[in-house]
Amino acid sequence: MLINQKSADKYPIRVRKEASEAELFAASELAKYLSRIFGSKFPIGRVEDGSTGFVVAVLHCEAVKKILSKDEYPIVNDGYLVKSSKETVLITSPTPRGVLFGIYAFLEKIIGVKWLYPGPKGEIIPDSKEIDMVFPEIVMLKPRFSYRAFTNYSVLTANTLTFIDWMAKLRLNCFTLNLFLFKENKDSYLLNRIRKEVKKRDLLLEAGHHSFFFWIPPEKYFNSHPEYFAKTNGKRSPEGQLCFTNPEIFDVMVNNMKRFANKNSDIDILGFYPNDGFGWCQCEECQKLSRKITSKSLWPEQDNVSPIYFSFVEKIAKKLEDDLPGKKLIALAYLNYAYPQKIALPSNTLIAFAAFRRCIRHSLDDKGCPRNLIYKPLLEDWAKVNRNQMIMFEYYMLPDYHSLLYPIWDIMKKDLDWIEDLGIQGIVLEFKLEQINLYALTANVYANFLFDGSKSIEQLIMEYSCLFGREAKKVAAFFVQLREFYFSDNSCIGYYSPRFLTTLSEQQTLSLSTLVDSLSCTNNEWVKKLQMNWRYMMSFRQFLVELKKLADESVSGAERSVLARSIEKTFKELLNNIHKCKQSYSDIMDYPNNCFTRVIRDKVYKTQELLEQQGFDFNLKEIIDSI
Ligand SMILES: [Zn+2]
Ligand SMILES: [Zn+2]
Repeated sequence: MLINQKSADKYPIRVRKEASEAELFAASELAKYLSRIFGSKFPIGRVEDGSTGFVVAVLHCEAVKKILSKDEYPIVNDGYLVKSSKETVLITSPTPRGVLFGIYAFLEKIIGVKWLYPGPKGEIIPDSKEIDMVFPEIVMLKPRFSYRAFTNYSVLTANTLTFIDWMAKLRLNCFTLNLFLFKENKDSYLLNRIRKEVKKRDLLLEAGHHSFFFWIPPEKYFNSHPEYFAKTNGKRSPEGQLCFTNPEIFDVMVNNMKRFANKNSDIDILGFYPNDGFGWCQCEECQKLSRKITSKSLWPEQDNVSPIYFSFVEKIAKKLEDDLPGKKLIALAYLNYAYPQKIALPSNTLIAFAAFRRCIRHSLDDKGCPRNLIYKPLLEDWAKVNRNQMIMFEYYMLPDYHSLLYPIWDIMKKDLDWIEDLGIQGIVLEFKLEQINLYALTANVYANFLFDGSKSIEQLIMEYSCLFGREAKKVAAFFVQLREFYFSDNSCIGYYSPRFLTTLSEQQTLSLSTLVDSLSCTNNEWVKKLQMNWRYMMSFRQFLVELKKLADESVSGAERSVLARSIEKTFKELLNNIHKCKQSYSDIMDYPNNCFTRVIRDKVYKTQELLEQQGFDFNLKEIIDSI
């Protein structure tokens, strides 16, 4: 069985009469790519009308039962089978989403299509004229992790639609939207389109994130019921969390959740994350339930509020189990409620564990990392009691890391190996779509490791570097070297820290810069972007190195004057590079944001303080005023 331009009509794509929207979409995706490759139209027909060609259908339908004997392949979840025999290629899965993933697996493994970046720019479609349709079967009995998600961090744009398409191509299966996007009277046109794209692919749709005030909005309830809200500093406030020992709040919450879920039936997972930050209720009843913390804990000054939050989660989940069958509830273990509870939560509950203060130079189970060692036993205890309900809320896409390239792929690999053993079900990654240009490689690694882990980091780097055209080899060498240098220093890197830059040695910096400078960017926008981003990173590094020197006590007054002038120049250059990045391409927008400004400000102020203590009188703050 050979497929080429002439034989296209002999191999129609067949779907069943009752095909779901996602099966139809899967068939149309197959037709689209085959047509593009072979230059002729591939018709979509009915499975009932013939037996040759591609059969695209869920596992347990009549059409597939005729081809496969019962239980021949114990595939679960969104695993799939792609099997060729004589004149037929069968692409099947227990779920419509898995059928779509099977199509992508076929296109990738048999035809050689690659999706390295969202949208047509990131597709690599091979130039084939003829393909032998007899090939060894492709079987994925069970994806490595069952929950493979992204959550939007910033605003939605039309690019989100392209991103969802890409997610499915990488076999990720859940998209989380911030609940506040669903607020009535918000512009819902784009939101509705996004929801349709998610459902068209039979992906899971989650509406969640920090959401206490979505369920109990202060603007609606605070005036009439201040007692629903947390008592902080002696009075009820619409700015903290909620008061869960209030006798009425449970009913109000459940009713609001039910009303929302019934109105938005496409949502599979409902979020029940507390508001971000602290602000837990200090009323007498709530205080009885919170626990004092030992000094080794995450935030020694904050009580452990897990008992109060998770017993409320348990109550809500039990109620929703009856009232909203089939829906899941997702809770969050984070900040001062990351502490494990010995409650086995109802099976409709997922718990997202967020190791917010983790280190990203060491894996979560690294015995030598003091930051991660705090989280390790917490997660282990959680997993013991709620083994199949835990997922990780992770920061691998590094939002608020000032768009710095952190080659953390090895950390992801080690983390995943460990959490898989713990029985964790998957990961949700927080990300800013504006930054995908920098982190698309990380997203590729994430997706591959979560789905099957079939490729090594080296392979994934090589594949991704194809985007850089003629410079692919050199760019791959750059990523490999960056990765090596990242681990040549063993110090921890905490949240939002630009530390990696200053731990790079002069020699390492020179070596990387030489590689980047030697790239020819003619006609390749990716090369240009990489160069621009590297220039930004190097001026950021220079600024930090000079600041550090200035704070060095052994530096003399005369040297300091020279340094101070140099810093001013370096800082201008840094801002200039940021400006250039922003001007040249719109998809990186994370430079002079609040986080960047705060980090720079903190560093400058600290240096200023040190200088003043040493009796020197430089006004560094002036530099900062120019941000
Ligand atoms: Zn209270
Ligand atoms: Zn560490």
